[in-house]
Amino acid sequence: MSRIEQEKRVVTAMIGVYCRKKHKSRTLCPDCEALNAYARKRLSCCKYGENKSFCSACKTHCYAPQHKDKIKEVMRFSGPWMLLYHPIMAIKHLLTTH
Ligand SMILES: [Zn+2]
Repeated sequence: MSRIEQEKRVVTAMIGVYCRKKHKSRTLCPDCEALNAYARKRLSCCKYGENKSFCSACKTHCYAPQHKDKIKEVMRFSGPWMLLYHPIMAIKHLLTTH
């Protein structure tokens, strides 16, 4: 799987956890669905392609400010849950980030 695909899966999983916990929604609510679509689109357009670092470590801030705040909130919230719900994905993510 490519880096970009891998990271898309992480981002979608994190938004999924966030929405399930915060919005009590079994599937993504419209707001989270929009954020998910936005995040995936940004990843598809990432100019670093397969050499990219994770977005949290990236020097290029390609997110529009309001989306950036939202995705930061999602990451902060879902980070600890990822180890519980998606441990393999979370550990891979940590290994690749550092
Ligand atoms: Zn939601």
